[in-house]
Amino acid sequence: MGGADRVIVVGAGVVGLTCAVRLLEAGVRVDLVARDLPRETTSAVAAAIWYPYRALPQDRVTAWARTSYAVFDALTDTDPDCGVRMVPGTEVQRTVRPDPWWRAAVPELEHTVDVPAGWAAGWSFTTPVVDMGVYLGWLGGRVEELGGTITRLNLSALPASGLVVNCAGLGARLLATDRTVVPVRGQVVVVEQLGLERWWLDATGPTYVVPRERDIVVGGTDIEGDWSRTPSPQTAADILARGAGLVPELRDARVLRHRVGLRPVRPAVRLERVGDVVHCYGHGGAGVTLSWGVAEEVVALVGR
Ligand SMILES: Cc1cc2nc3c(=O)[nH]c(=O)nc-3n(C[C@H](O)[C@H](O)[C@H](O)COP(=O)(O)OP(=O)(O)OC[C@H]3O[C@@H](n4cnc5c(N)ncnc54)[C@H](O)[C@@H]3O)c2cc1C
Repeated sequence: MGGADRVIVVGAGVVGLTCAVRLLEAGVRVDLVARDLPRETTSAVAAAIWYPYRALPQDRVTAWARTSYAVFDALTDTDPDCGVRMVPGTEVQRTVRPDPWWRAAVPELEHTVDVPAGWAAGWSFTTPVVDMGVYLGWLGGRVEELGGTITRLNLSALPASGLVVNCAGLGARLLATDRTVVPVRGQVVVVEQLGLERWWLDATGPTYVVPRERDIVVGGTDIEGDWSRTPSPQTAADILARGAGLVPELRDARVLRHRVGLRPVRPAVRLERVGDVVHCYGHGGAGVTLSWGVAEEVVALVGR
């Protein structure tokens, strides 16, 4: 063990790319290999709103999410074209609830009763919204600017020599022989922008309406053990009906795309070093939300 000056990162989703950026910034040479290139990954399907969804344990997730929040917020000033915006919104609830367990991760959160008919209360806060089509391109560009490489390679096992950072998401089932990471299927419908400037979320369902600059992502589903990446028309209709409960204008919105992704859910995120492998996978429904926080810890485990 000890500090490495060269690593192979496996995985070109948001987790692998963000780890690669932080490692390169720390002076480590990085070669990234992946079966799917950034825009083909699960990460490309994410809504993507900063929100600690389906990821544990609570204490580590809160700390990683808090770090990422601050980095995304800063990026909106330093790199306004990277695809990240700070957007206000409300998570609605059927009954009045105390603060969420991840409260310490956001600077401000207000309890409100200004919610659509059918809900009793909510939490309003401003949070990063990431347009993954733009952002993954920006992250990949950062890796290359910093001297890293990205190569398509379908591995049947983790590389056996040198230090490896394993960010394979669901691929860890094979590469780390870890059957505790399971697919949780999520379907979304992308519709035209209607001038919407706030996001809405009902975590039961889940139902969410996330406005980006040019379109709106409406979700979703959360089906454990379902491996199908084919969008279902019935599910899409149900998603739009649920979304219209939060934002009625969605009823007449033009549909642009249907997308499905398989979230890599694990009982707890795996972030640890075992010999020459740093494992970093199982971020569930929060890979974007946790990305900068886990990347910092990966750099520490690599020993820089
Ligand atoms: C519908 C939906 C909505 C979501 N919304 C949000 C959201 O709003 N906010 C949020 O934070 N998160 C959200 N998520 C979750 C988020 O997308 C995931 O947590 C995140 O994408 C996981 O990133 P990752 O880099 O670990 O994995 P992935 O993006 O899956 O990348 C894994 C990489 O590993 C590579 N790999 C795997 N196996 C091999 C192999 N054998 N050889 C070589 N390479 C391999 C893959 O090719 C890929 O490049 C959403 C997910 C879905 C499906």
